[in-house]
Parts: sequence; C-alpha cells; structure tokens
Amino acid sequence: MNFDKLLPRRLFSLLTVLFVAISLTAAEEFVVVIDAGHGGKDPGAQSANRRVNEKDIALKVALRAGELIRNAHPEVTVKYTRRTDVFVELKERARIANKAKADLFISVHCNAAEGRKAHGAEVFVLGSEEGRTQANLNAAKRENSVILLEKDYKESYQGFDPSSPESYIIFEYLQSEYLKESIALAQCVQKQLCTTAKRYDRGVHQAGFLVLYATSMPSILVELGFISNAEEEKFLNSADGKEKLSKSIANGFDNYYKNLKKDTQSAEKDKQSAPKTTTQTPPKTEQANKISDQASAKPEQANKNLEQANKGQNSSTAEEEKKPAESIVFKVQFLTSSTKLPANSPKLKGLTEVSFYEENGTYKYTCGNTTNLNKAQELRKKVAATYKDAFLVAFRGGKRINTTDAINEYKALHP
Ligand SMILES: [Zn+2]
Repeated sequence: MNFDKLLPRRLFSLLTVLFVAISLTAAEEFVVVIDAGHGGKDPGAQSANRRVNEKDIALKVALRAGELIRNAHPEVTVKYTRRTDVFVELKERARIANKAKADLFISVHCNAAEGRKAHGAEVFVLGSEEGRTQANLNAAKRENSVILLEKDYKESYQGFDPSSPESYIIFEYLQSEYLKESIALAQCVQKQLCTTAKRYDRGVHQAGFLVLYATSMPSILVELGFISNAEEEKFLNSADGKEKLSKSIANGFDNYYKNLKKDTQSAEKDKQSAPKTTTQTPPKTEQANKISDQASAKPEQANKNLEQANKGQNSSTAEEEKKPAESIVFKVQFLTSSTKLPANSPKLKGLTEVSFYEENGTYKYTCGNTTNLNKAQELRKKVAATYKDAFLVAFRGGKRINTTDAINEYKALHP
C-alpha cells in the first residue's frame, strides 16, 4: 500500500468532515435582535393623560416576546438593544444588531395620532410605499424624530431631517435585498396581532424608518396599537394586553422561522438530488402583466404579456421598435395596492399604457412604456400632477432593475 498517496487523501476527508461539521454548527446559530423603542429621556408616544409611555409598553412586550421565542426555540439566540429604561440612539440600535450578525431585527413601538379615534396594529418594513398615505409618513416622522434627542444627529445621519418630506426621498430608490424576507416576517407578525391579540388590521406597509435603514438583515417595525386611543391604551397597558401582544410577536416569529427552515431543508434536498452540472434555480421572476381581463392569467402568460409590452408592442415610434429586447424600458410608477385594481378603476383614469407588476405580494402600478429616458421623465412630471410621489422605474427583459443604474446606463449610451 502506498501510504504517501493515502495519507493526503485521508487528511482531505478528515478536513472535509471537519468543515461540514463547522458549517453545520454555524448554520444553526440563529440570532434575533429585539429592539424596544425609545427609553430613558425619550418616553416615545404618550397617552392623553401622559401617564402611559410608549417606552414602557415597548420594553415589557419586547422582553416578554424574546422570552417566549427562547422558550419555544432554545436554539435561537435572542438579544436586546435595551433591557432597562435607558436611552439608546437609533444608530446604536442598528449597530447592536449588525454586530450580533442578527438574522432578524424586530423593533417594537406604539403608535399615536392626533385624531384620537385611530386604532389598530400595523407592521412596517423599510421602503417608500408608492401612493403612500400621510399616516405612514407621519408614523415614520414620529419614530425618526427621536434622533433630535441625540448629540450630533446632523453629522450622524448625514443631514437627515426627520420632519422634512424631502429627506424621505432616500428611501424612494431603495432596493433592499432583505425586503422579501422582511415582508414575510411582517405578514406573519401582523396576522398574529390581528388574531392572537385581536387588534384591528391596519396592514403591512413600507415607510422610511431610520432604525431599519441601518440594519443589514430582514427587519420590521411593529406598531402594537395606538396609545393615543383611550380604549387601545387600556389594552396596551394591561397585563393581559401585553401578554397577547408579546405572544403575537413570538408566534409570528415562530411561523416565519418554521417556513424558513422548511425552505432551507427543501433547498438542501434539491442540492443533494440535483446533478452536479445543475445551476441554482433562478429567483422567482417578478410577475407582471398588463391590466386586462388577463389580470388573473398564469405567471408565464403574465411575463409574456410584459415582455411583449416591453418589446415596444405599445410603443408609438418605429425607433423604439428597432431596439433589441434587452433595452431598458422606463415606466412611471404611481400607485401601489395590496389588491388588484379593476381595469375601470377611477384611480387609473386618464393614464395610458397602464400595467402592473407584482412584488412581495403588492401590485405596483405603472404607466408609460418607453426606452427614451427624456420621454419617461416628461411623463413622470405629468403623472405627478395627480400622483405627486410618482417615480421612474426601469425594466430589462420584463424584469425590474435598479432605476439609478438604468439611468446611468442610459446616460452613458446617450451622452
Ligand atoms: Zn416609537
């Protein structure tokens, strides 16, 4: 026997076993950071009589939710941005999560509104909800305003002014790589808030929350309910209410986590059974289709519809038709809806070449369809008269691409 040849081979197999063992242990470490909003000198929102503070409810619920998660999943590491009534800067909260290499970040808050009738629970993920409501922007403004209590906030947040709508433009073109997971987690938690805690369903939304902006993992911000509403304040402040709200977060996490594990396991199986030459399955293509009776058509059909539209089927100039299919197509996004709008919806009146694409369970409505950036920008201005937040989106081969990149590419080709 030739030991010289055998030894390296044995060593190699030993190393392989070690490597697999290490990567398995590493994969099992799942870290959740739970962030109780506000604290210390920052009470957060307050009840009408100023006796009940958001910071206290958030802390109790955050700690209890973490405890419940740990009880149900001893293998999950739960960390907190604060465990006591102390002031923690927004950027520090995100830093804690990033440093812990957290897999999830859950920020816990209570809502408030001037109108005392507003009530219900909602979960936010980072972004700019096109056609967003003033209420969502207000929630973001209110939560972001805590940076005003920080020293040097102007430097720390690069001139971000929490009260200025213009500052929120940074969230407009944001393409968060964690958006899909964030929305999945948000939906799991929101569902529980409506069932376990029986809160009124205000839905899952996107808005520009600074605390989520700085985290590099799927992140959500939970608004448990309105402290400004007398009845809801009672619930938020009661032991029973806090327990139900904590359970909602823990159960929501539980459902998300189970789905995640299922996905990972099936992905592992696919990997094992797949022949070596097989590459990874491509990510789900963004489903998009033209508004028509085919709105409920299968995704394949939907994609064909969009590709046809992008090929210039609806374009008016011959010049555009000559462009290859890989050309960038610009459209103007003006509205987002959680449900499909009927083709005769008054919201779509007067707009041409209306189409939509589906992303993370929301329908994003666009109008226009051109390979000419200037034309797209003109159209955006027109549409902005009705939809003031209308903005450009870009597609290539029927797939949404980063708008900034698309504009840069266009400008390089059309100096
Ligand atoms: Zn808050």
